[in-house]
Amino acid sequence: MDPARSNDPGPIIRGLTEQIEAGLIEIRRDIHAHPELGFEEVRTAGIVAAELTRLGIPHQTGIGKTGVVGLIEGGRPGPVLAIRADMDALPILEKTGLAFASEHEGKMHACGHDIHTTTLLGVAAVLRQLAPQLAGTVKLVFQPAEEGLGGMQAMIDAGVMDNPSIDMALTLHNQPEMPAGQFGFVRGPTLAASDRFDIVVRGKSGHAAYPHTTVDPIVAAAHLVTQLQMVVSREVSAMHPVVVTVGAITGGTTYNIIPDTCSIKGTVRTLNARARDIAEAAIKRLAAGVAEGMRVQCEVDYRRGMPILRNDDKVVLPAVAAIRAQFGDDAITEGEANLGGEDFALMANLVPGFQLRVGSSQPGRRDRLHNSAYQPDERSIGFGVQALARAAMEILG
Ligand SMILES: [Zn+2]
Ligand SMILES: [Zn+2]
Repeated sequence: MDPARSNDPGPIIRGLTEQIEAGLIEIRRDIHAHPELGFEEVRTAGIVAAELTRLGIPHQTGIGKTGVVGLIEGGRPGPVLAIRADMDALPILEKTGLAFASEHEGKMHACGHDIHTTTLLGVAAVLRQLAPQLAGTVKLVFQPAEEGLGGMQAMIDAGVMDNPSIDMALTLHNQPEMPAGQFGFVRGPTLAASDRFDIVVRGKSGHAAYPHTTVDPIVAAAHLVTQLQMVVSREVSAMHPVVVTVGAITGGTTYNIIPDTCSIKGTVRTLNARARDIAEAAIKRLAAGVAEGMRVQCEVDYRRGMPILRNDDKVVLPAVAAIRAQFGDDAITEGEANLGGEDFALMANLVPGFQLRVGSSQPGRRDRLHNSAYQPDERSIGFGVQALARAAMEILG
């Protein structure tokens, strides 16, 4: 810390966080014990709204079904920074054995969104105190249904980007690959565009003993699945990571029948718009080639899903500087992009955005997200509060 900076917010943010940390952990355990799936976050949203009321922060509920949006107005005019946390749980049977384990059988906060929600409540409490020093507005976005159910799109459709209109956006994800107290960032593309395709291969059914009287869709589908491997190996530049995965292939009923159809389901993940275009075109062309060559019909339904999540330096650089100022230079390191997806990308497609990685592993544990035994380190809440609050101060400085 530079002692020359007389108005250094570091110790104030640390002190305010320490005062509320135990209470935040209680809230987190309550949310953890009562996980709710996407668009069902009624109880969780109720906890959020009650906390915002207690903090005297004006807010609206029911945004995008179960979303909550709060506003902290700074002492001076300036841009609007959204800070977003997701609230939904996963359909996983929890096996942690914790005293506050899920009481909703078959549902679990295995992606740590209980940590995110609680962290944003902590950020709200700290920034409420520091609001007079902010030049601009903080919009607290508590989002439903991140896990593939369209929660961010629902909030955008409900007008979350407007009134007041968001200029920049920040979010976090807990990261069990890093210890609590450490942070990570990526500049530029950080999470993949995620698309889905269905291909129905239509042939002509008949007796397995007389294949020449049929058009076999299973053999054609098998050829197509093999050819799809060439999209990555022979069509997209080796400098651009792409995944083409066939996750399901279904056709036929028994030993002695050649069926009429065989269907293929798959996903394409890309970090680059050009690679995405190439992959989509190649899948359609290869399917047309198999159709022509093997006398089948191939119907391709290619659906673009989440866009690429690009972290924008306009938010990344001040946030990283803020975290270095708060915790020291070694607390945050530059990491690599990966081919997972995240619907914050929809917001970051509209305004400059940044997803901060917040280390959450406990000493001695090797946890993974979406795992039934996931136990994030609860200290990651306090660290996340300090990091995001300091980043907001820096961005709205
Ligand atoms: Zn997840
Ligand atoms: Zn998640």
